[in-house]
Amino acid sequence: MSNLSEKDKKNIWHPFTPLEGGIEPLLIDRAEGVHLYTADGRKIIDAISSWWVNLHGHSHPVIAEAVAQQARKLEHVIFAGFTHEPAITLSENVLSILPKGFSKIFFSDNGSTAVEVALKMAMQFWHNQGIERKKIIALEGSYHGDTFGAMAVGDRSIFTAAFAPYLFEVEFIPFPTSENETTVLETFERLLTSGNVAAFIYEPLIQAAGGMRMYAASILNQLLSLARAKEVVCIADEVFTGFGRTGRIFASDYVETKPDLVALSKGLTGGTLPLGVTAVSDRILTAFQTIEFTKTFFHGHSFTANPLACAAANASFTLLQSSDCQQQIKTIANLHQEFASKLEKYAIVKEVRTLGTILAIELRTPEKTSYSNSIRGKIYDYFMSRNILLRPLGNTFYIVAPYCISRQQLSTIYSAIEEFLTG
Ligand SMILES: *Cc1c(COP(=O)(O)O)cnc(C)c1O
Repeated sequence: MSNLSEKDKKNIWHPFTPLEGGIEPLLIDRAEGVHLYTADGRKIIDAISSWWVNLHGHSHPVIAEAVAQQARKLEHVIFAGFTHEPAITLSENVLSILPKGFSKIFFSDNGSTAVEVALKMAMQFWHNQGIERKKIIALEGSYHGDTFGAMAVGDRSIFTAAFAPYLFEVEFIPFPTSENETTVLETFERLLTSGNVAAFIYEPLIQAAGGMRMYAASILNQLLSLARAKEVVCIADEVFTGFGRTGRIFASDYVETKPDLVALSKGLTGGTLPLGVTAVSDRILTAFQTIEFTKTFFHGHSFTANPLACAAANASFTLLQSSDCQQQIKTIANLHQEFASKLEKYAIVKEVRTLGTILAIELRTPEKTSYSNSIRGKIYDYFMSRNILLRPLGNTFYIVAPYCISRQQLSTIYSAIEEFLTG
């Protein structure tokens, strides 16, 4: 073990990693394109975009240059009472790709905080109007982040067990499938008619951490129409789905009825720096547009709208808009679909799901489908031994690669997957 690895083991507590019996972290020296380079000379394909954040490949020169230039000019400034060009440009960029009706951007630090902000805005929207609305509705199996509000609206699981007594109450409706649509709609309507519903939060079309589970735009549209009819604030958590992952810029673009608030992060900076934003629609703003000081949205983080992060986001935005990138997204989506159709013949494959640049494979195992399914470690080790980083969610594993991935690199991953399935 290198000296650095020893120090890591001694000093550092890694996320989602048991302190005993967890995997030894690999020491990464540098990264470029889809590849991570380890200190001991391995070259690993990052097929999960480093926890779904990377869009254009690692250490992208355009983003690196934008960050470097910004760092020499203005690294950070308090965002209350002050503003700067990178944030203003980013607000324009983000608003230009959102549906009509969104007119303000609130900055924070990551996906969890973007969700916290959306939840707090939804709650205060009612509070400011003196209207009693308390209930929050979410979907079973949802994941919205690791801070308390975000945990509260997420499914209760082994991840939240220790905090269960401290999480506010949320009504969970069943995850929609092709079989249970009527039940889902009835459950939702019953909750809505009981009154007192403040907000509905959802991951549009795909629950990512929940196992890359996909559901139809049509049922989501019905849920949103019902919610709208009762003036419930609808919050789209597009932290994972934003910026092209699903084949369109936002997953909400597949759905006719639009949300009131959208949480974005992950791909926002192309995966270079942490940044979150919450996009706010005109309707929500009306409850805050007053000179009454007590109705201010009292929320902010030290690094709100950090100029370096905004500069990275603007550079990533330009790359995303390029016809090259848009073509890549289409190509990946087509290749995934072709590959998916080849996988039905494997008995061990329970289901293959694709949506845009996302391909997920759920395996049939003696244990039931869950994050703690023991096949998880086997899948991870199998692909890592072939220098491919695929980090399963239990018995489901998936490709969520940077958009710059080549046909050949995708074929390498596909072939490894077929070998794995052949056993
Ligand atoms: C990752 C994720 C979050 C949390 O984002 P962080 O940046 O990890 O805090 C929230 N919602 C969804 C849908 C996510 O996938």
